[in-house]
Order: sequence, then C-alpha cells, then structure tokens
Amino acid sequence: MMARREFTKTVYAQIVKRAMHPVHGVFCEGCGLILGKKPYHVDHIKADGLEIEKSAKLTADDGQLLGVECCHKPKTKVDVTVIAEAKRREEKHLGMKRSKGTIKSPGFREVEKEHAPSSKSLPPRKLFRSITTRGAIVG
Ligand SMILES: [Zn+2]
Repeated sequence: MMARREFTKTVYAQIVKRAMHPVHGVFCEGCGLILGKKPYHVDHIKADGLEIEKSAKLTADDGQLLGVECCHKPKTKVDVTVIAEAKRREEKHLGMKRSKGTIKSPGFREVEKEHAPSSKSLPPRKLFRSITTRGAIVG
C-alpha cells in the first residue's frame, strides 16, 4: 500500500534525534532497548487508516523509532498471524474449496519459521534505565 504518508527528512531526523542517547546512541522508543548499530525503523504511531485529516503534515509526534528486531518486527508478525488465522478459519469454513485463487503463498511459511523464538535475542523488555544503572552495555 503506497498511500501512507512518509515522514519528511526533517521530521525523520527529529525522531532519530529524540531517540538518541548522548552516550549510548539510538535506543528503541518502544521498549527502551539500546540499539547501537542494530537496524531500526521509524514507524507511524497511528495507523494511517484511522486518521481523519489525511492532508495534515506528519510531525515527530506522529512517529516513533522502533528497533526492527525488538519492536517493529514483532508487531508485523502479530498482524500476519492474525490475518493467517482468519484465512485458515475461512478455509475451514469453505471446506477447502478448490478454485483459481487457492495457490498457497510461499511467503507465509517463511514468516512461520521466523516466528520461532530465538534463544539468541535478548528479551525485549530490557529497559534503557536498567542498562544505565548497571553501567554496562553489551555489544
Ligand atoms: Zn524495542
């Protein structure tokens, strides 16, 4: 969907600056995790579909910087799961009716695999404050 409004460079920079700790660098505004060099994504706080004023300019308040691994991805995953769940229910209801539209998306299995919990990644609840009090940053 290309209808989403994007942040201007200025606003994007404001959001990144807001999420920038002077010592530790960029942290996730969703959970407070220090991201360091990990990928992040500037996300819209509200879904665009819920906004009434489409013409209004986006400001830094409309966005949040999220770590891709800790906050941005999981949110996307949930959406996918919910949609898949609904599709499965629908399929069951229709009794696996065969038609031109029943080609299974190969992309879905990829997502399922990714969903498996990784023992490598840190729990996403680790807050920025708790890291600073300990004074040690891993990575
Ligand atoms: Zn996060």
